[in-house]
Amino acid sequence: MTGFVVVGTDTDVGKTGFCAQWLHAFAGRYAYWKPVETGESDTDTIRRLVPSARVFDPLAHFAEPVAPLLAAVRVGRRMPSLAEVIAAVPASTLPLLIETFGGPLSPFTDDELQAELVAAWDLPTILVTSSKIGAVARTLQALAGLRGYGIRPSALVLLGPCDKFAAGQIERHAQAPVYSISWAEAWDEAGLRTAAARNRSEFERLHAEAPPARVRPAASVGLVRRDRASVWHPYTPLAGSDDPLVVVGAEAEFLELADGRRLIDGISSWWTILHGHRHPPLMAALRAASRRIDHVLLAGATHPEAVTLAEMLLATAPWDGGRVFFSDNGSTAVEVALKMAYQAWCHRGEPQRTLFVGFEDGYHGDTFGAMAAGRDPLFFGRFEPLLFQTVRIPVSAERLAEALARHRGQVAAVILEPLVQGAGGMRMHSPQELADIFAVARRYGVFFIADEVMTGCGRTGSMWAFEQAGIAPDLICTAKTLAGGVLPLAASLAGPDIVSAFQSEDRSRTFFHGHSFAGHPLACAVAVANFQELTGERWKADARRIENVWRERLQPLGERAGLAVRIRGSIAAIEIEAPDGYLSELGPHLRRDCLDRGVLLRPLGNVLYVLPPLRTGDASLHRIADAMVAAVESLPFPRGRA
Ligand code: PMP
Repeated sequence: MTGFVVVGTDTDVGKTGFCAQWLHAFAGRYAYWKPVETGESDTDTIRRLVPSARVFDPLAHFAEPVAPLLAAVRVGRRMPSLAEVIAAVPASTLPLLIETFGGPLSPFTDDELQAELVAAWDLPTILVTSSKIGAVARTLQALAGLRGYGIRPSALVLLGPCDKFAAGQIERHAQAPVYSISWAEAWDEAGLRTAAARNRSEFERLHAEAPPARVRPAASVGLVRRDRASVWHPYTPLAGSDDPLVVVGAEAEFLELADGRRLIDGISSWWTILHGHRHPPLMAALRAASRRIDHVLLAGATHPEAVTLAEMLLATAPWDGGRVFFSDNGSTAVEVALKMAYQAWCHRGEPQRTLFVGFEDGYHGDTFGAMAAGRDPLFFGRFEPLLFQTVRIPVSAERLAEALARHRGQVAAVILEPLVQGAGGMRMHSPQELADIFAVARRYGVFFIADEVMTGCGRTGSMWAFEQAGIAPDLICTAKTLAGGVLPLAASLAGPDIVSAFQSEDRSRTFFHGHSFAGHPLACAVAVANFQELTGERWKADARRIENVWRERLQPLGERAGLAVRIRGSIAAIEIEAPDGYLSELGPHLRRDCLDRGVLLRPLGNVLYVLPPLRTGDASLHRIADAMVAAVESLPFPRGRA
């Protein structure tokens, strides 16, 4: 649908006359529709004043000349819902000129104001006001009302005798162009045509200058209320949480909100977006692939996208002879790795190896195997009776050696997030510690699973975090950034020792695991483009550039009492001493504070961290740093102050 929505500052400002002139000025180029009307029919008036115009019937007409909601109630009918109006948009080959009733905040139904409907159209809005006394205040009030619903009119029209003072004041305060259109002398076809001819240059100017429809998803406003009644958000209490941000667009490091705000996505949308939102080469790959293919199964079938990506992934692995098992999220990549490790031991004749060793502050996902491996008491304590047995130890080679000695012959694998334990609070260990832990696992002959779901694909400055320790894990889990964050895709890379345990024609040795969307061709196509980016040098320079900003701007905070700062590649975390840790009220407070400064961060309780898309511009990096520093400094003494 294309066209314009015409909104009046109030009832009777002259919207219908404006529409009639418009239809004359652009004869044959627009169709008219007024979805809801009362009293004398504006639809009929337009038909009389512009007989040549294409005019659609209203969806609802109520006889009494009062507010539509009231008129409907008085005759025992109901107003159509916003959804019904949206569904009833006439199929028109011409762009539509849609006339609304009353003012923007006129009630539409008992629950909805007309502004919500205006916001739902994907159309530029023209705000019409009359130049009668009070024009400036009337217009600015209507604008403020519209702004509350995320609507910024493309043009303001001042109807009536030209009032340069009012036009100038409105333009100045509203920062939107004002067009002066004079009234018709006679309220008939000839009068409207003459007026349209007289105002022609203003109409032409308005038409040429009004920006094209900004694509606004249907009903982005009023969405929070509908969201509250329909969506169950991840990791969010069903009651008492802040309203969700209504995001209507994303570009580079920015999220565009329905209310017009532009936020910096400092956490790469849950650590998924690698280069930037809608990174052009990735979107181009998606468009190109979608012209050829959608989804096909990966059991007994294959496609060029999956094979190419598997080859690219294996080229980054620390061994030859591996295989890539595709799935579609990080938890599943971990489940696959755990199951492969155990089944490999079964094939090797050691089915008693049912234990896995995980680390304190480790997090591997929310499915049962992943919960068991992470075993975070806060997140997963409730499910404890349902979790299989694992051993949980501090991140320490000595403690691992103790555990493996104690459970000799019973452990299938050790699982660790290399260098940075993400959800557990961005806890970091050194490449040397990682190398020592790996060496212990090797010494005891157990498999080593590197959960690179968060750290993989360049976040820590190397392709895989484990590379910095020079180790060769048996299984590597990747997800989030695998397809650049554009589409869900995950993979578990199995090394030769795992693969060889399954290398058999005996069907009972099959790895009986598979997801409907395993290796989705479109996601794989995007991931291939992502890997092409990762074979260049640019991302490494970006990771270093980001790390340098954190070192310069955030590292000094670590000198202050009660604060600790950790940095690895593009990831930085500020831990604020707080007795109640993750559940501390600091988290929501810091989040809101940063949001007020235009930066989206989601603190892990008392850990304020940042992990931006790699192409985030320097100005944005400094804005993030400014926001983090200011947020920490806003905390009450003694926290955050030396
Ligand atoms: N492993 C790690 C290290 C993670 O950080 C996450 C997600 N935060 C997961 C696994 C689970 O990934 P997903 O949310 O895609 O299931």
